[in-house]
Amino acid sequence: MTEPDATAPAVTAPEVITETAALRAALAGRTVAFVPTMGALHEGHLALVDRARELADTVVVSIFVNPLQFGEGEDFDRYPRTLEADTAALAQHGVDVVFAPSAAEMYPRGGGGIRVVADASALHFEGASRPGHFDGMLTVVLKLLNIVQPAIAVFGQKDAQQVHLVRRMVADLDLPVEIEVAPTVRDADGLALSSRNRYLSATDRATALALSRALAAAAAAAAAGEGPDAADAAARAVLTVQPGLDLDYFAIVDIHTFESVTDEHVGDARAIVAARVGATRLIDNAALRFGSADDGADE
Ligand code: AMP
Repeated sequence: MTEPDATAPAVTAPEVITETAALRAALAGRTVAFVPTMGALHEGHLALVDRARELADTVVVSIFVNPLQFGEGEDFDRYPRTLEADTAALAQHGVDVVFAPSAAEMYPRGGGGIRVVADASALHFEGASRPGHFDGMLTVVLKLLNIVQPAIAVFGQKDAQQVHLVRRMVADLDLPVEIEVAPTVRDADGLALSSRNRYLSATDRATALALSRALAAAAAAAAAGEGPDAADAAARAVLTVQPGLDLDYFAIVDIHTFESVTDEHVGDARAIVAARVGATRLIDNAALRFGSADDGADE
């Protein structure tokens, strides 16, 4: 028998579980930090996993491309599915269990079952462009939280309106889970990592950088003492001159209500943007602070 190499890092493949009952049995009595994903994992997802690793003894990652949160004509069918590579990456990050259910396991009654309905803050921005998206997202998140029963669930700031709605659902429905939010991971050039970036051509990629440049322009205006209207104008000056970029929305929103702020707004806010580049729809956001004192806007 060969002795194990004591210098090699200990990599244990996560247990991949596809059925709810088996997952419940595997997790009984364990304190779990949970990272829900749709797979096609990149460093942004893995940063959430690393955060989860710090927060509980057992880390569970779900990989499920949720049909309920895709609208007609969206990319459900062509969404990348890379379970083997995902599981290998998660092994390197010390994940204990991967939950990868089928659609039939999650929705045995098809699309006709009872669903979560978001509040009016889901009607703007992503919700306006993607009707039903947030009801579908909240429904699957609630189901996953009920199946996994984690102490903590980790989400990415990249999906700012999603984070807002998940927090609201947890508060409004008294869910016994703590929500942890991790910062957006970006490529060196500023592009926020996304499973959809793989669809960008080299030209598209250069075009897509206008999103993070526009957010930086808004943040710089706010940091220079300008108000929301001037910050909005600074961002739009970047977005509207960018050839090949089809702007869906840019807005500066209140971090508590996710409503657009007025020019009188002082304190924390979030700039959010969505645009289509080629056939790919991209979103991004950044923290802004209006007014003089800087007491720590993080991202
Ligand atoms: P998804 O697989 O796109 O549903 O994303 C799963 C989780 O990863 C969500 O909480 C996302 O907000 C988060 N996420 C996606 N991209 C990034 C990123 N670039 N940085 C940090 N978190 C991310």
